[in-house]
Amino acid sequence: MKSFFATISKYLALAGVLFYKKRLLNIIFILYSCLTRKNKILGLPFFLQVEPTNRCNLNCRLCLTGYEKLNRPKRDMAFDEFAKIIDQLEGSVFYLVLYNLGEPLLNSQIYQMISYAKKKRIFVRLHTNGDFKDKKHIGSIINCGVDELTVSLDCATPQAYLKHKKSDTFENVIDNIGSIIRERGRRCRPFINIQLLLTRDNENEISRFKSLVGRLKADKGLIKKVRVDFPGVQPDAAFLPLDARYIRKIYKDGYRKKRCFRPWVSTVVLCDNSVTPCCFDMQAEHKFGSMDNSDFRQIWVSRGYAEFRQQALSDINKIPLCRQCSAIDFFDNFL
Ligand code: SF4
Repeated sequence: MKSFFATISKYLALAGVLFYKKRLLNIIFILYSCLTRKNKILGLPFFLQVEPTNRCNLNCRLCLTGYEKLNRPKRDMAFDEFAKIIDQLEGSVFYLVLYNLGEPLLNSQIYQMISYAKKKRIFVRLHTNGDFKDKKHIGSIINCGVDELTVSLDCATPQAYLKHKKSDTFENVIDNIGSIIRERGRRCRPFINIQLLLTRDNENEISRFKSLVGRLKADKGLIKKVRVDFPGVQPDAAFLPLDARYIRKIYKDGYRKKRCFRPWVSTVVLCDNSVTPCCFDMQAEHKFGSMDNSDFRQIWVSRGYAEFRQQALSDINKIPLCRQCSAIDFFDNFL
């Protein structure tokens, strides 16, 4: 019953941030630009992803940090830098994801960032691995106003956790999730997801994961199909589950990607303020500009960004990054 009210509350919050004349008009402009393939895009993105840090306290397999292949220097975004992005996009963005690579809670200004985005009436989704030692995070997560929290537990047993995350802290994460849910009490916010990353190692743990989600009284258990392709890393099919139902279409024979709408509706700002087209561009191969020395609008309408957008609609297979991408079919990402 609690999850039911939390779900209602989440969708009401989403509706509440969407129904602003300026934001609705912006969506219409963007959709019009996309459908007519306008070279000079009208409007600004309505989904925003910001990377608060690219540092992490874990070394998971299937992550560029774990592979030690991330080419970008380690850095935390400063609050002022974040505020500048939000100030320039508050009229268009209604949905913000605070996460890309790295563990967002390592940025000491993360709660200040969330409160700022909430003041601007933006729906905020935060991701964390939940593996924190400082229990002050529990109260801060509840009180900062974040709308949705996804904890990437990724495994359902301590053994699988140790193998996947190279850490013996499974119980600490379970403890932290339980404390957040208890502390939230009767409140419906944040909506709490626990995520399982389905690989060959844990494809038999689905029912165990579902009972864990039930026991912890989380609002939703997300079962994510694994990606085995990362820019700069040789794909390793040995991680793919044996059960074909659990494998993304992209890894199946005969699947051909045609087009991608993401660069038309969303954008990603990395922790060093670089603007890139999507979360798959983890190494910033397509850096269209930096918020350090340009306004977002200048970058968004730049020639490089416009050409990338056109290419993403005409034939993404001509873009090497997109050829390798498995993030393209959003609805196929989860079970
Ligand atoms: S196909 Fe993938 S890499 Fe290319 S723009 Fe879309 S999400 Fe990004």
